[in-house]
Amino acid sequence: MLRLSRPHIDDEGIAAVVEVLRSGQLVYGAQGHAFERELEAWLGCSHAVLVSSGTAALHLSLVALGVGPGDAVLVPDFTFPATANVVLLAGAKPVFVDVDPGSYCVTPNAIAAAVESWHGPERLRAVMPVHEFGSPVDMTGLRAVARHHSLHVVEDAACAIGAVHEGRKVGTFGDIGCFSLHPRKTLTTGEGGILVTDDATLAHRLRRLRNHGMERGAVGMQFHEAGFNYRLTDIQSALGRSQLPRLQGWIEARRVLAQTYLLALAPLARRGLIDLPIDSPGHSWQTFMVVLADGIDRAAVILRLAEAGIEVNVGAQCLSMQQSFEKFVATDPQAVSARLYRQGLALPFCEQYNNADVVRVSAMLESVLQGSHV
Ligand SMILES: *Cc1c(COP(=O)(O)O)cnc(C)c1O
Repeated sequence: MLRLSRPHIDDEGIAAVVEVLRSGQLVYGAQGHAFERELEAWLGCSHAVLVSSGTAALHLSLVALGVGPGDAVLVPDFTFPATANVVLLAGAKPVFVDVDPGSYCVTPNAIAAAVESWHGPERLRAVMPVHEFGSPVDMTGLRAVARHHSLHVVEDAACAIGAVHEGRKVGTFGDIGCFSLHPRKTLTTGEGGILVTDDATLAHRLRRLRNHGMERGAVGMQFHEAGFNYRLTDIQSALGRSQLPRLQGWIEARRVLAQTYLLALAPLARRGLIDLPIDSPGHSWQTFMVVLADGIDRAAVILRLAEAGIEVNVGAQCLSMQQSFEKFVATDPQAVSARLYRQGLALPFCEQYNNADVVRVSAMLESVLQGSHV
């Protein structure tokens, strides 16, 4: 079976993990500290704070920025549900904004329109752009809109490590940026997350909140506020550190593979059977998702490809169609997000696959869609 993707674990990473296990220092320590400094250099930011998941990173961001009851936060309608779950968990209200059909991301114009049509009663406090599948949001435009309306910006770059907007890595534009180290992402520690910020006060608060609200002083442990245990273990940090020097190469390989897909699938797109993702500059291609034409039975396509030994899956969710957010949705689901959710098809994709894999998947998809009429 050609799996949707595969975590990139090699002997070097395994050896690094074993070394930590033998050392006896398992929770956040020297490995985590070193990994944070290496991530700051790699990402180009002042402070990186490791946490236990991408969701923990998103949650801490809102808590640290003081977003809570009485507040509302703009989130894309097409993303992984964690983006909006954390808004609810912080006590605030998510407001869903439709995405662009080619980039699968929110645009500055859509955010501006959502702000202008907002009537409360909650106060709009923040916007959480998602760099969906590694597709970089126009952060220059988005920051201008946010500044104009005094909104905090929390970038959900969970699946977009290494994506670039105007020469700068995403995640470093907002008040806070969040990354995930889940095995479906390009850099993985099994579970894990990274917060990044250029604000030293905010970084200090994030470090404290991830560790029970605790700080070490002259008199030992001091507990300053109710915090979480959102720490990453040193076992995980050792694995991450072993991968980081090769991450850029992996992203370059993904960019090449995405070009192969775009070329191989162009005939299907010309016939109107699928829509292809926009190949935006700086895309880091965590996932390669196409959109089947309306009327094509996606479940049947998934089944036929599985029979041919190819694992494909839905891309991401339309949040306003999920039960957890039902009572926060005033209108019908956003049109584009609903369509991407219903007809999106994520194809096998990671840097360990080669051109032949991608050509085989494309040919098999073509043969499955052969009889389809649109
Ligand atoms: C993966 C992902 C998350 C969640 O990250 P976890 O590490 O699994 O908690 C959140 N948002 C987006 C956009 C993601 O892709």
